[in-house]
Amino acid sequence: MPVVRALEVVSIGEETYVRPKAWIDGDTLHSIEEPEHAEGTRLPLAAYPALARCIAERSASVEEDQGAGGYALWLPVWLQDKVVACLELRNGSPFSPEILNVIHGIFHVYRNYQSLLDYSERDALTGLFNRKTFDAEFARPVAQGHGGPSEHDDHPQQPQHWLAVVDIDHFKQVNDRFGHLYGDEVLILMANLLRSSFRAQDRIFRFGGEEFVILLRSASLETARQIFNRFRMAVEAHAFPQVGRVTVSLGFVSTRHGSSVEILGHADQALYYAKEHGRNQVCHYDELVKAGDLQPQAAAHDDVELF
Ligand code: GH3
Ligand code: MG
Ligand code: MG
Repeated sequence: MPVVRALEVVSIGEETYVRPKAWIDGDTLHSIEEPEHAEGTRLPLAAYPALARCIAERSASVEEDQGAGGYALWLPVWLQDKVVACLELRNGSPFSPEILNVIHGIFHVYRNYQSLLDYSERDALTGLFNRKTFDAEFARPVAQGHGGPSEHDDHPQQPQHWLAVVDIDHFKQVNDRFGHLYGDEVLILMANLLRSSFRAQDRIFRFGGEEFVILLRSASLETARQIFNRFRMAVEAHAFPQVGRVTVSLGFVSTRHGSSVEILGHADQALYYAKEHGRNQVCHYDELVKAGDLQPQAAAHDDVELF
């Protein structure tokens, strides 16, 4: 029985990690977007020696005789000079030249399609989803009401979806002191920290210059707060080359009530509260409103960076 897996390849710090993203089991397609597979197994590239060799040699593909009548074909997806994904095909016999020809043909189409998608959906500097993708995706969970419990059942333990806006603190100073190139490097490293701090079913977007949005799926209030704080602390603990310490402020809100514009506005209000009250902190909109620290209002998100 042939086996096909699509693997995600990401760099975090100096390490490259590989994680199965989607695979075919019999006739069924599985993916890490499904909650039961959400954690996925992320292993260092070294756990996939044939793929590691293929990447080191900058080859288009490599065939591996795995012994016991097992054969694997590794097809890394190169975008510019980086591997972002890989297809893994397994077979009970060696791949014939005819089959290889067909596979390479289809893979060529797949890679071009992937590259087009990346170009339109993702931000070129960080590889995160861009604002346009956010606009297209965010209308959905809100409109659907998440299929979760009714609006009256607002228990803090209930899992729900959360939207967070993250903004780097005093980022202008990083540019002013170290130059734009170091600023860009911080943005790239920040994107890596975001990728490693959130789960496969969450979504991360670069929203504007040094502003990011996270859609955190299915978590209780306390879990959401912990996850956001863990990310904030991971940034605080990270030694950015040359630049040193960088911190972020974060505002978050449940996506259960309101239009997408209102939700974004509320997360933004919580973010600005965090900025005004010391930065390097995580603020929850409803809590601030309950405490009388924020006036509830239907705020519009007008903080697009133009520079
Ligand atoms: P605050 O803590 O209040 O957020 O202060 P800040 O300095 O981070 O905020 P401000 O909005 O004044 O400055 C944001 C800076 O981000 C200004 C701009 O030069 C920089 N920036 C935006 N996009 C990029 C980018 O793509 N690369 C680099 N290097 N800098 C960027
Ligand atoms: Mg900003
Ligand atoms: Mg900032």
